[in-house]
Amino acid sequence: MKIYFALISAAALSLSACGGQQETAAPAAVSEAPVAAASEAPIENTPTEQAAPASAGSAAAPAEAGECETVVNSDDQMKFDKQELEIKKSCKEFKIVLKHTGKMPAAAMGHNLVISKSEDASGVVGDGAGATAANDFVKPGDTRVIAHSKLIGGGEETTFTVDPSKFAEGSQYEFYCTFPGHYGLMHGTVKLI
Ligand code: ZN
Repeated sequence: MKIYFALISAAALSLSACGGQQETAAPAAVSEAPVAAASEAPIENTPTEQAAPASAGSAAAPAEAGECETVVNSDDQMKFDKQELEIKKSCKEFKIVLKHTGKMPAAAMGHNLVISKSEDASGVVGDGAGATAANDFVKPGDTRVIAHSKLIGGGEETTFTVDPSKFAEGSQYEFYCTFPGHYGLMHGTVKLI
């Protein structure tokens, strides 16, 4: 049935290319079999060429919706896949998805993602170790922490949000994992854009 329509519309378009009056009928024929007509009659088919940029524009829309979120992967090699975490200041809230792509459990190779000023990182990590896994290795109520995720193990993921208005102008910020011993390999710069 689709092929039949495609042949009809291709024929109609070929005819319409010869006469000005029939051009108005051509777009209607295209809409009945848009996919087949587009691939089979591209040369004579001016109306389809005009339609293509419109569909490309709508396909780009979801990318804009993703500007206020990012994904950070972590693994059994004690690594984040990002050394720089970009947070867009114009976002009302910024969503961070932390994924653990490894296989080891949280007790052996747990990861979290904590954000603070660079100057506060060592204090947050030190107090986090004492806070134990029950508190995701973050001291409860630690005001130096801008935001943090839960502690996760291999195959898990967790999402948390950051309030971009909490970052002060002129200060340096870092993200890191506070699982004991992980900071050395698992830290990076927070870049506000
Ligand atoms: Zn870790």
